[in-house]
Parts: sequence; C-alpha cells; structure tokens
Amino acid sequence: MDCVFCAIASGAIPATIVARNAAAVAFRDQSPRAPTHILVIPVRHVASLAELDPAEVAGVIGPMASLAAEVAAAAGLAPGGYRLVINTGPDGGQTVPHLHIHLLGGRQMHWPPG
Ligand code: 5GP
Ligand code: ZN
Repeated sequence: MDCVFCAIASGAIPATIVARNAAAVAFRDQSPRAPTHILVIPVRHVASLAELDPAEVAGVIGPMASLAAEVAAAAGLAPGGYRLVINTGPDGGQTVPHLHIHLLGGRQMHWPPG
C-alpha cells in the first residue's frame, strides 16, 4: 500500500522522529501550525478513527495518547498545556488517510477550531 505515514514509520521516507514506543511513532509535522507540532501515528496502518473497529479503539489510541503525553512533557508543554486533535474523514479535515494525533503547543490555542 502506498501510504506516506507507513513509509515514515518504517523509515522508508525521512521524517524528524522524536519518540516511539512499541505501537506508535511521533515525528514533526512538515508544515507546523504551532511552535510545537508533532504527529503521533500507530505503527500499523489504520486509515482513520472512523474505520477502526470500536473494539480496537482503546488498544490503538492508548499507546498513541501515552506517547503524545510523554512527548508533550519532554517538550516542556505540560505545565502550560497543549492540544491533541484527531481529524477524521473529509468533514473533519483529514488529508492523510493514516490515523494520527496532532500534538500542538507553544502558543495559546483558540476555540472553536476552524
Ligand atoms: P490531517 O490534515 O490529515 O489531519 O494532517 C496531516 C498532516 O500531515 C498535516 O499537518 C501535514 O502537514 C502533515 N504531513 C503530510 N505529509 C507529511 C510528510 O510527508 N511528512 C511530515 N512530517 N508531515 C506530513
Ligand atoms: Zn499507513
């Protein structure tokens, strides 16, 4: 399958990897929308949250959220806070069809997002 995030997870195409665990990889977004903008993906290909079997959600999102929290803390964002976003499907603004959490921080976030 031709998936850019699978290629990043396997090392086939370069990215600035900041952390990984057994199930997830964290790397810098190529077009950062905040001073810290990191993507956290599952190593295995999952197209989106909507396409994941509900019975598998906790097992997939758990290691991703855990890695995101570790990366945020390591970046010094924990005291001030940060934002995690999972764009899902066309209406959610998802452009890359491999599940990912955006970790955004280092500036004040606004609500509602656009
Ligand atoms: P989405 O719009 O699907 O929620 O987010 C996709 C994100 O992936 C965007 O923020 C975009 O900048 C980032 N992105 C797309 N292709 C690449 C890539 O090849 N390398 C990296 N590091 N980020 C990418
Ligand atoms: Zn993939």
